Amino acid sequence: MKNNDILIIGGGIAGMTAGIYAKKSGMQATILEMHENPGGQLTAWERNGYLFDYCLHWLVGTDHGTYHDIWRETNAITDDVQIINHRTYAKMVDEKHGEFIVYNNLDEWEEYLINLAPEDKKSIEKMCRLMRKGNRLDQFENPPGMRSVLDYFSSFLHIGSFFPILIKYGKRNCQELLEELGFNNQRLLYFLNRLFVGRDFSAISFIVMFGWFHAKNAGYLLGGSSAMTRRMAEKFSSLGGQFRFKSKVTEIVVENDTAIGVKLENDEIIYADHVIGACDGHTLLFDMLKGNYLDDKIKKAYADWPLFTPIVMVSFGINDVIESENHITSYFKEGLSIGSTKIESYNIMNRSSYDPAFAPEGKTVLLCQFESPWSHWENLEATAYPDEKEAIRKDTVNLLEKHYPGITEKIEVIDIATPLTTARYTGVWQGSYEGFLPTLDITNELPMKLPRLKNFTMIGQWLYPGGGLPPSAQSGKWAIKMLCEEKKLAFKSV
Ligand SMILES: Cc1cc2nc3c(=O)[nH]c(=O)nc-3n(C[C@H](O)[C@H](O)[C@H](O)COP(=O)(O)OP(=O)(O)OC[C@H]3O[C@@H](n4cnc5c(N)ncnc54)[C@H](O)[C@@H]3O)c2cc1C
Repeated sequence: MKNNDILIIGGGIAGMTAGIYAKKSGMQATILEMHENPGGQLTAWERNGYLFDYCLHWLVGTDHGTYHDIWRETNAITDDVQIINHRTYAKMVDEKHGEFIVYNNLDEWEEYLINLAPEDKKSIEKMCRLMRKGNRLDQFENPPGMRSVLDYFSSFLHIGSFFPILIKYGKRNCQELLEELGFNNQRLLYFLNRLFVGRDFSAISFIVMFGWFHAKNAGYLLGGSSAMTRRMAEKFSSLGGQFRFKSKVTEIVVENDTAIGVKLENDEIIYADHVIGACDGHTLLFDMLKGNYLDDKIKKAYADWPLFTPIVMVSFGINDVIESENHITSYFKEGLSIGSTKIESYNIMNRSSYDPAFAPEGKTVLLCQFESPWSHWENLEATAYPDEKEAIRKDTVNLLEKHYPGITEKIEVIDIATPLTTARYTGVWQGSYEGFLPTLDITNELPMKLPRLKNFTMIGQWLYPGGGLPPSAQSGKWAIKMLCEEKKLAFKSV
């Protein structure tokens, strides 16, 4: 055992970020990853010349703020990365209510909404005003426990006029926000409800998200998930960090309430000064630590907090150039099923409409995505799985044919990733791709440290309702800041 050796379980964005800052700050860092590739959910896979991207749609911090600093410091964003800010968030198409467009620029959206519902002009203007201010919300540079009075003061100054909004709506959900805004136009209300209320999101996450889009601070990185992962993995390796792939951790080795290393699937034990858990939170707490170090909040979170419903992603490689007005179209229809999942909506995304990385020239990648509850897959007999995938294939081809007549004969490749695929490849509990839903107060985070367990830190999407790449990465940076303070080392970000 050497001084300042750290082991990081999981090579997703949280693990890679922690690894990069650990190396910059002079520690030895090894990432143990159960697969042969880094990235975790930030991934894409190749099939017959097409690249099917699983994750990256938008990244908070593409332009400024503390998240932006992290992307720059970890090479997630370099000078030569092109950033795309889509004009629209999505187009929604409903069989009864027609079409509705959600623009990312709030001036454009405001004008569109007022045209659609002039009687709600005041409410629309108020909603857009709240959202414009949402961009002022930034994250703390330092983790909880390391923040000074000055940190709070400068954060207060930075938030400025958004502060009263944060206080007022911090503990309300979108339903309450919409009720307060008092829209009258039924069509407008229908779509706004569809956009967020159905998912019971917190009002602040809704307000802030559009603030980020408006400020062009939540763009898309050309090249997508695999290119972003590659840049970060190369940064970690170039700093001397070690990846150990095909190294599945089964247990955190603990002595006298101190983490002293990990045990792998093949019974190998690797010792370390400090262990960072950057994999699925449930596996970490309930399997690797056998449920031994839980406080009441953690117990309640994993027992009661609602999770994101997992998704099925069907990727199509099309031997033609398909033009789409919007990169994402969400279709809403009653009484629809795909395979044996009853659904209310599905998305069709034209990935090639904005990124040439996904298909060879003259070809297109389209994705069809829908939610499918974990219970549906958990209880599916192994023998029924191929039949379910075949039914999904047929149904999604029919949907595609409906939207793009004549496309069926141009389909060269179909790839179906189910919630079981997500769970198998990333270990994510119940296939919940962003962890807990942001239904609660968004400051309601889980702790990075466990009661009584020394030399152990937890990072990644499961600490923050809403999950996503930015907070997962930030927890990686914070873990190393905390460790540097503990070990009296200088934290280095460059
Ligand atoms: C379809 C989809 C779309 C998304 N879109 C976006 C988006 O546009 N923007 C955004 O910000 N976020 C998005 N997200 C969410 C984001 O991808 C995740 O929140 C984030 O990647 C989580 O990172 P993580 O490092 O915490 O966990 P993971 O990415 O889950 O990484 C955990 C790693 O640990 C490894 N591991 C697990 N168990 C073990 C073990 N026992 N031993 C060793 N290794 C282990 C896994 O293989 C994995 O590599 C999306 C997610 C999905 C699935």
